[in-house]
Amino acid sequence: SYRKGGYHAVRVGDQFAGGRYVAQRKLGWGQFSTVWLAYDTTTSAYVALKIQKSAAQFVQAALHEISVLSSIADGAPSNSKFVVQLIDQFKHTGPNGQHQCMVLEFLGDSLLRLVKYNRYKGLPLNKVREICQCILIGLDYLHREHGIIHTDLKLENVLLVSTIDPAKDPVRSGVSPILERPEGNVNGAVTSLIEKKLKRRARRAVAKISGQRASMGGMGESPKSERRNIHGIDVRCKVVDFGNACWADNPFAEEIQTRQYRAPEVILQAGYSLSVDMWSFACIAFELATGDMLFTPKVGQGFSEDEDHLALMMELLGKMPRKIATTGAKSKDFFDRHGDLKRIRRLKFWPLNKLLIERYMFSESDALEFSEFLVPLLDFAPEKRPTAQQCLQHAWLAGNDSVPSEMTNETSVENVDAGISNLKIRVGK
Ligand code: ADP
Ligand code: MG
Repeated sequence: SYRKGGYHAVRVGDQFAGGRYVAQRKLGWGQFSTVWLAYDTTTSAYVALKIQKSAAQFVQAALHEISVLSSIADGAPSNSKFVVQLIDQFKHTGPNGQHQCMVLEFLGDSLLRLVKYNRYKGLPLNKVREICQCILIGLDYLHREHGIIHTDLKLENVLLVSTIDPAKDPVRSGVSPILERPEGNVNGAVTSLIEKKLKRRARRAVAKISGQRASMGGMGESPKSERRNIHGIDVRCKVVDFGNACWADNPFAEEIQTRQYRAPEVILQAGYSLSVDMWSFACIAFELATGDMLFTPKVGQGFSEDEDHLALMMELLGKMPRKIATTGAKSKDFFDRHGDLKRIRRLKFWPLNKLLIERYMFSESDALEFSEFLVPLLDFAPEKRPTAQQCLQHAWLAGNDSVPSEMTNETSVENVDAGISNLKIRVGK
């Protein structure tokens, strides 16, 4: 893809925007772009530089993402804390064409990496709560203040953030949580001095935090336990990747969301709104708690991936009401007029509560509380799913009595932060 219309090849030390940004190392890539850690010589800070492929449709997509990100940045600054911030944008001409670039705040590793790092075992429920809270505050902000649907929520698109307050601790602030790689740098990028320095700082910060938590059964001193014990990692995160986001009153793409996180109304082409994000959110919460994706549909003999997906949903959640099953533009491909799947006849019902106990060894009370939180989000009727705002009031989050009730009030970000740090102190399971 490093050809005309494709990615822009970057080398460590390359300069952008007339020398303002200096490339340090590759952070990641997506279908549309490569993302680099860059040093901003104007503000003396690290930023993430997203360099889009240069073909016209990618430039168009980048301009769309910029318009979404700028409108997000225009809102109340408080809860936008849980959504990535756009700092700057410019065009960069290289051998493969003209690339639209975005300068974003530099964040840490994705939740996917966190789950991998934890060996797909599922995170402790208190960590899952902390993460869910961050995502929900971000979603509530996007949905209520902007009417924006993210449309591509998944573990890769939620990144960890440093929780250290720059005012209180200028040295440790700016440390983005970068989890230990098993063998050097998985991206095969050059490990620069900067990276080593950042890692050393991150390790030191983690060591300091773990020291404070020693009495809570936290991290041991041996490198082995340090590598895999996530109890000591402060968890805060932000939603990223607005390349597919849209305004609820103007949904332009028919097929949205990454397969495993896709809502039933999208498969059936029955129209969609903000509540598709709530479906994906429930899939994320399950995956964080168990280490497994909630739905992994596969093509089978005589049925499509879509049909398998619908079958998996009904095995977990019960039969889809006939009216919902039969009213989408694609309903006829999958359902007969009684609302039964045409090609997958025998379903094995395994409700979430039982699944959590039997496969994931949850205690009965944990399973009950968690499924009472998740199942309403997985309602086949999109309009019945709780909103992000309602979710934030749910007993599963609020039952943890350290969560302040003013959580969703946009003037009380300090309380939100306090709530999250209270949660951290309660970790001890
Ligand atoms: P695409 O639109 O091409 O999918 P993304 O916005 O998803 O691009 O970014 C691709 C990858 O780059 C992400 O999965 C992540 O690893 C990394 N990345 C993106 N934004 C940031 C950021 N602000 N800070 C750190 N890493 C980032
Ligand atoms: Mg992406």
